[in-house]
Amino acid sequence: MSVISNEPIDEKKLEKARQIILNLQNELAYKIETEGCGPFLAAVFDEKGNIISKTANSVINEKCSHNHAEMNAVKEAEKVLQTYDLAPFNLSLYVTAEPCIMCLGGIMWSGIKSVFYGVSSKDVERITGFDEGFKPSWLEEFKKRGITVYGQIEEEAGKKVLETYVKTGKTVYKPSR
Ligand SMILES: [Zn+2]
Repeated sequence: MSVISNEPIDEKKLEKARQIILNLQNELAYKIETEGCGPFLAAVFDEKGNIISKTANSVINEKCSHNHAEMNAVKEAEKVLQTYDLAPFNLSLYVTAEPCIMCLGGIMWSGIKSVFYGVSSKDVERITGFDEGFKPSWLEEFKKRGITVYGQIEEEAGKKVLETYVKTGKTVYKPSR
């Protein structure tokens, strides 16, 4: 699938995002093996390219269903910058896969200005069996709130990480129904 966005695609922004997301996918593959984290990694950068936070999904290790990579990255950025409102800092969130229903809420409330993600929710669900939730027109909803979104960036690398996670028998954590 090709890259999607809720603004006309800016090739410069996209190229930067490709590099960051590929680096995150590589680091994620390593972290899954060495630290046993969930199969997602997120990072927050400022407009100068300084990294503010970088966190993996820690649902299993920290026994908390809210600890998705994006939520951890936002919490860490707010801690670093000592604020509940990230908007004045003009920050971008990069994440290896499309945010789930909970993380969309968390991002919206944080003041993050741009979101760049890798694998689409549809593919995350197909590969892993995680339930990403119902998210009608979220790119449009984010646009209304002044949040730029670019998605499906370097998807093939991201899908491989998720496929390996499942193939090697790692836990697919979800509530029992
Ligand atoms: Zn999430």
